[in-house]
Amino acid sequence: VMKHAKNLAKTETKIEQAGVIGAGIMGGGIAYQSAYTGTPIVMKDIQQNGIDLGISEATKLLDGLETKGKITADKKQHVLDKITPTLNYQEINAVDIVVEAVVENPKVKHAVLPEVESQVKETAIVASNTSTISIDYLAQPLARPENFLGMHFFNPVHKMPLVEVIRGTQTSESAVAKTVGYALAMKKKPVVVKDCPGFLVNRVLFPYLGAFMQMVHEGVDFIQIDKAMESFGWPMGPAYLCDVIGMDTTVHAANVLADGFPDRMKYDFTTAAEHLLKNECLGQKNGHGFYHYE
Ligand code: NAD
Repeated sequence: VMKHAKNLAKTETKIEQAGVIGAGIMGGGIAYQSAYTGTPIVMKDIQQNGIDLGISEATKLLDGLETKGKITADKKQHVLDKITPTLNYQEINAVDIVVEAVVENPKVKHAVLPEVESQVKETAIVASNTSTISIDYLAQPLARPENFLGMHFFNPVHKMPLVEVIRGTQTSESAVAKTVGYALAMKKKPVVVKDCPGFLVNRVLFPYLGAFMQMVHEGVDFIQIDKAMESFGWPMGPAYLCDVIGMDTTVHAANVLADGFPDRMKYDFTTAAEHLLKNECLGQKNGHGFYHYE
């Protein structure tokens, strides 16, 4: 499938202009990566401080590269000029692809996606960066589901090479190929996957985190597990990983997988992540998780 999509990507028209809806952690990262690799991008949010945050994140990353001597001040400005921040939809009229990266809430996405679709040209691809919501479900209110699919980046976008391109039941081959082409242009490694709970990465990752929760429930010290997994060669252990992902997101994604695969992914105890979430220990984002952060 991947080879076919890559070959097709070569014959499809290139993405000349992109858009991203939502300038949060992910939207800001997507805008930066697109601009840095040469595709101009319009970044839309509903609040000015969202946009300010997105631009300041991109600026920080570029400042870092300039300090290290990897880019010149000119190149930095050139990249920033490729990001068009806006609070209006009109600016996305001309884009070839738009990636929706608003909050992970099915109702909000069901409202935002048709709005976006009505603003872009008929041939434009509308993609969602959802981590857990079914692509077929998100396609329901759309007039052109053949142009809709998932384009799932990982956090932090500029560092993580993989992008899951999620094909819905009605997604056209051309939409898949153009999205694969855009991911490659962004210097990412796309993988085409089917629409199922957890897609590919989270479907593999969450049984691992579930096994970790089970061991903690049985009384094994989570620090020892983290140390062992680091010595095994992984960049971080499972407890630290939950802190990075955020306990709210971790529990939410675990529930989506438990609903999708109840025979395999439902646990008959309250997990450590659920306990932490109840106590508002969200991980690195609020300084308290499995570990404490200053
Ligand atoms: P976030 O809360 O940091 O950002 C969301 C942004 O969307 C905010 O700036 C908000 O103002 C804006 N927004 C809300 N409604 C909007 C609307 N109607 N129009 C335009 N902008 C709107 O969220 P995030 O962590 O960047 O997550 C965004 C999406 O990416 C979610 O679907 C999430 O599941 C997915 N995702 C997140 C991660 C992660 O690690 N954070 C990883 C992969 C995928």
